[in-house]
Amino acid sequence: VRVRTEPSVLHLDLDAFYAAVEQRDKPSLRGRPVIVGGLGPRGVVSTASYEARRYGVRSAMSMSEARRRCPHAAFLAGRFGAYHAASDVVMAALRDLSPLVEPLSLDEAFVDLAAGPPTDLSSARVRSIGTALRSNIRERTGLTASVGAATSKLLAKIASEQAKPDGLAVVEPGSELDVLRPLPVRSLWGVGPATAARLTRLGVSTVGDLARITEIELVGLLGDAHGRSLYRLARADDTRPVSAERESKSISVEDTFDRDITDPALLSALVERLSARVAARLSATGLSGRTVTLKVRLYDFTTLSRSATFPAPTDDPTVVSRVAGRLLADVDTAAGIRLLGVGVSGLVEWVQRDLFSAVDSPAAEQPAPVDDHTTRDRGLRRWVPGMDVVHVQHGPGWVWGSGRGRVTVRFETADSGPGPVRTLAEDDPDLTARIASASTFSASSQPPGAD
Ligand SMILES: [Mg+2]
Repeated sequence: VRVRTEPSVLHLDLDAFYAAVEQRDKPSLRGRPVIVGGLGPRGVVSTASYEARRYGVRSAMSMSEARRRCPHAAFLAGRFGAYHAASDVVMAALRDLSPLVEPLSLDEAFVDLAAGPPTDLSSARVRSIGTALRSNIRERTGLTASVGAATSKLLAKIASEQAKPDGLAVVEPGSELDVLRPLPVRSLWGVGPATAARLTRLGVSTVGDLARITEIELVGLLGDAHGRSLYRLARADDTRPVSAERESKSISVEDTFDRDITDPALLSALVERLSARVAARLSATGLSGRTVTLKVRLYDFTTLSRSATFPAPTDDPTVVSRVAGRLLADVDTAAGIRLLGVGVSGLVEWVQRDLFSAVDSPAAEQPAPVDDHTTRDRGLRRWVPGMDVVHVQHGPGWVWGSGRGRVTVRFETADSGPGPVRTLAEDDPDLTARIASASTFSASSQPPGAD
């Protein structure tokens, strides 16, 4: 493992990402406190705009606390389609710099500039790469990003944190310890509240204090792996590589039958059962996924797989089952099926399981993942604060709130400037939900025989 002498690790983090996307697309909310998260009774704040942070609202705070601290904020459910679309543009801009990009979340990634086309990677040059990147992202997405660069992941991430919001910081090679020493130990990876409390008992509050503790003492206090790793991090000794390898995680289950099954009702029941098993495994592992895949082996052992991707990750058995059922409807099963499988991939760990559960009813679920037809099929018309809508007369807008048979919509878009608010009947036939994603439903099939 190579020790870097140039600030060739870049860390990019979009500023108040979800809230910033909402302010971009909803002109009346620019400069105002915006809080995105679960709006139900047990909802949690996902992102607060900087205006809301001034009132002490933070990520992971309960939504009820956020409402107490900043009652005049706009409270919105998330729009993952819009967030994914912005994220795709940002990640593509990073891949233009280097093929070695390690995404940490939708709005955060490391880039190994040394793995890109050979170029001067002096601090001055890296600074200009960072500046160009930030203005490129602002131009292409309308969002601001903070960028840090340093000789290691640890310092690059700390630098982007210090540059926030809308800034750039390059740690000069050789000055890493000067940057680290005054920081609280909590700034180091792996130091959570429990570790911090144990360190406090040793009189350690800053990284500089930590660097005075011997490795043997740290191992005694925190165990072998953790102790050694902190000992090294306190000395800015971090050679972890930027790694683009993403585990392509998926969870799937399948059943093979000892006879060809042709009964459509039985097939649907089997798909439903498989979906429930997949969903149970997802929730047991705390994961949700965006792509549902149906695998079918026909009587002649031809194997087909079809998949659908939707904007928001789900672990909801009814959503998985509904999508898998639709995929099955596309397959000619008349001659009989030998094997059925259902899988979910594109897995993510959403801290926020209830981000979309904006209504207080126990039936609250992820929004219709596919398109508006699904919503109608299910007889559901739920107007979630923040969601995109379009009205036949008034045009495009977004839901401010609903209740008592009414829905309040502000008719504006990213390009329109602040627009008027109108209150409509909740069942206004001229009002339709829009899902802000370029392609919300893609079905694909592999050639016969592929498995
Ligand atoms: Mg961010």
